[in-house]
Amino acid sequence: MGVEEKKVIVFIAHPDDETFIGGTLARLVRQKNRVLVVIATNGDKGTHDRAQTPEQVTTIRRTEMALAAHVLGITVNWLNFSDGTLFAREAELKEKVFRKIRLERPDILITFDPFKKYDVHSDHITIGCVASEAGYLADGFCYYPEHLEEGIEPSKPQETYLFNTDDPNYSVNIRETFHLKVQSAEQHVSQFGGGSFKEQLLHRIRLEGGNEQDLYLESFHKLYYSELLI
Ligand SMILES: [Zn+2]
Repeated sequence: MGVEEKKVIVFIAHPDDETFIGGTLARLVRQKNRVLVVIATNGDKGTHDRAQTPEQVTTIRRTEMALAAHVLGITVNWLNFSDGTLFAREAELKEKVFRKIRLERPDILITFDPFKKYDVHSDHITIGCVASEAGYLADGFCYYPEHLEEGIEPSKPQETYLFNTDDPNYSVNIRETFHLKVQSAEQHVSQFGGGSFKEQLLHRIRLEGGNEQDLYLESFHKLYYSELLI
């Protein structure tokens, strides 16, 4: 069993980061939860083609993300930071994340594990750090008191789940939505090259010593605030 009719907010750094947990997101949607994915950057620097401008890359990423979101049944919001700038602009990001949580008032928050070893992309670490902290502190009225002046009330989710973790303590069986995870990931043609996403996933799992059954599980580190189960 999993949660039903809850509001789930997911903070990620880049368009395509949702592929880490596409099976869980599709499952949450199937269970009549509302899933909002907030993407911090436009993914605008993710090219090695010197003929492309960051603006052109942004357009491609947004188009592909819209197709992927449609497959999963999720809603997407953009915070419009440039790729690779989240660490340098952490204070600005933090206010936006607190504001988003207070406006949306989700029951469950999902983000990157900020303590993942050897993830050298600082955007992943920074959004994980900021969003998990906001999941803990956004009900404190002394943080960003200007929000109260705007009529935005403090609020925080009941639970936070961290993905891309070295220390999983919770897993979601995604066998019934695995096909949607694959289909949505394959919409990101400019990033995954248009090949079989399942084969790419399996290759990575085998390199890490796993087997085919591992395709059908997505792992999290769950912070125990309450007893909701995604
Ligand atoms: Zn990323």
